[in-house]
Amino acid sequence: MARANAVYYGGRDPLGRAGDFITAPEISQMFGELIGLWGADLILRAGAASAAYVELGPGRGTLAADARRAMARAGLELPVHFVETSPVLREKQRAALPAAHWHDVINTLPTDRPLLIVANEFFDALPIRQYTRTARGWRERMVADGRFTLGTAECADAIPLPLADAPLGAIVERNPAAEAIMAALAARLAAQGGALLAIDYGYEGPLAGDTLQAMANHIHVDPLEAPGTRDLTAHVDFGMLAAVARTHGARPSPCVTQGAFLTALGIDARAQALARANPAQAGAIETARHRLVAPQAMGRLFRVLAVRHPDWPEPAGFA
Ligand code: SAH
Repeated sequence: MARANAVYYGGRDPLGRAGDFITAPEISQMFGELIGLWGADLILRAGAASAAYVELGPGRGTLAADARRAMARAGLELPVHFVETSPVLREKQRAALPAAHWHDVINTLPTDRPLLIVANEFFDALPIRQYTRTARGWRERMVADGRFTLGTAECADAIPLPLADAPLGAIVERNPAAEAIMAALAARLAAQGGALLAIDYGYEGPLAGDTLQAMANHIHVDPLEAPGTRDLTAHVDFGMLAAVARTHGARPSPCVTQGAFLTALGIDARAQALARANPAQAGAIETARHRLVAPQAMGRLFRVLAVRHPDWPEPAGFA
């Protein structure tokens, strides 16, 4: 999955109508603006104007550009740091935000200041492992010769305790890369100050289930077919990420739906203001708002988790 996604993202811009999938910041400027105001509010209340803005997997840089514009109106101009591996997407990001700094990995992010970290549809692109319960114990589900096969080693140690007695055939997923990144960033937030906002398809585990999926041209396709040519994702276990963050000294918020989060941040008022300023676009603005918050669209499937320094004030949007 890691190799397939590295090839996939390394060679193309998959976003948008003409690509394989569309993301919230590409649907409407309201998404990035509200996240920018969310961050500005938190930073100002924490008295941390020396912070850096960090984005993990920033795509075309659209969210960052919208967030920066909104933060600037609140009087905050933060340096921008992007963690991005795709050369093609880095070029798009450079066009959107020429003054940004790029990183291949999180280790090189600044250590001397608080960090405001945003990750939209980043954790879902990291490689998962899958385990299945067999009559002989827990076995890793692996891929060989283009098909799923089972490993022979006992893998009970990888299974969260509440799932140890899952029924035969149950599939349990772990995302070691996501857990390691959350662990390292939570430790950074605890040491340097700051907050991380993660938004993704997801659930609050521990829960069993196979969520590996592939998208091409906006439809679901076989994840094992044509590796490197389609986007592979898995739903994010926000229960696990919150637990990892807590273990490493940061404080997690409750996990809320994207619909509840954006509504609490004022997306209705923002949509009305945009529609008043652009009456010809009123229909399109309402369609975008609905897509972002409606339960049958992105409003319920997408979840939001914030993690912060334990002494930082409570972030908006989670009440
Ligand atoms: N956040 C953007 C893009 C989401 S697509 C948006 O909402 O539109 C996933 C992004 O993560 C892409 O920018 C991809 O290149 C990047 N990415 C995937 N795996 C990565 C990795 N291991 N390290 C850094 N970036 C990665």
